Amino acid sequence: MPQPTPRSITLGDFELTVFSDGTYFLDGGNFFGVVPKVLWEKKMKPDERNRVAVGLNSLLIRDGKHTVLVETGIGNKLDPRMAKIFAPQAKLMDSLAAAQVAPEDIDVVINTHLHFDHCGWNTLRQGDHVTATFPKAQYYVQEGEWRHGSQQHERDRVSYLSENYDPLIQAGKMHLLQGDQELLPGISVKVYPGHTRHMQAVMLKSQGKRACYISDLIPTTAHLDLTWVMAFDLFPLETIESRKRVYEHALPEKWLMIFTHDPVTPWAYLESPEPGKIVAVPV
Ligand SMILES: [Zn+2]
Repeated sequence: MPQPTPRSITLGDFELTVFSDGTYFLDGGNFFGVVPKVLWEKKMKPDERNRVAVGLNSLLIRDGKHTVLVETGIGNKLDPRMAKIFAPQAKLMDSLAAAQVAPEDIDVVINTHLHFDHCGWNTLRQGDHVTATFPKAQYYVQEGEWRHGSQQHERDRVSYLSENYDPLIQAGKMHLLQGDQELLPGISVKVYPGHTRHMQAVMLKSQGKRACYISDLIPTTAHLDLTWVMAFDLFPLETIESRKRVYEHALPEKWLMIFTHDPVTPWAYLESPEPGKIVAVPV
C-alpha cells in the first residue's frame, strides 16, 4: 500500500496544504497521448471504459499575512451532460471547511490556466447570476490564456466555460497578467508553454527553499518522462522544451513539485538516477 502523503508542509515562511476537489474521469488515451496503453496502464489502471480516475489538487499557501489558493478544481456548475462524462465530486469547499478555511479567508486565487477543471470553484451560480466564491479574493490568470479561451476555438472550446472567469473580470476581481510576475513576496507565476501557450506555474521561494505548482505541464508523477505528454496539449513539442527548463532547475535546487492531477502523490521531490530518467521521491 502507498503511504499516505502528509497534507501540510512548511517551506521556509510558508505553510503549504493540499486540498482536493475529489477525482474525475478522463479517457486514459487522452491523458497519456502517444504513449502506448501497455506502458501507461502499468502506472494508472483504467476501468472497463478505458477511463482513469484523476485527482484535482489545489494548493493553499499561508505566509502569516496572506492566504493564497492555487487552482479551484471543477466546482459544481457543470451541465448535466458534462457532469455525466466527468463525474466530478465537488469536494473542495467541504475540504477547506473541514480545515476551518472559510471562503472569506482567501486573499488571492491563482488559476494556472482556464480549463474547466482548474477554475470551477472560482464562481458560484446563484439563481440566474454568477458570483465570486471567494468574496474578498483577487484572482489572477495570464491575459493570453483568457484571450485564447475567449476565442472559443473548435479544438478546445469545450474546456473553456466563461462563467468561471468572465463575471470576475467584469466585477474587477480577476486580473490579467502579462508574463512572469511576483504577486506576493516569494510567490510568483512563470509561464511554461505547451499544454496551452500561456499556462503559468506558481513558484514559491522562501529561506532558500523552493516549490513549484507545475499544473498541467506535468499533471502527475506518471508524466515525468519528457515524452509522456497528454493528447490535450496544444503544443506538445513546447511541453517537452518547458519540461527541460523545469528539470534544469528543479533537480539541482531541490524544488518541491506539486502535481495537480495525481490522485495519490500530490507532491514529491525529483531525482534523476540516470541521464534522461526522472523519478518522484515521496515527501
Ligand atoms: Zn488543462
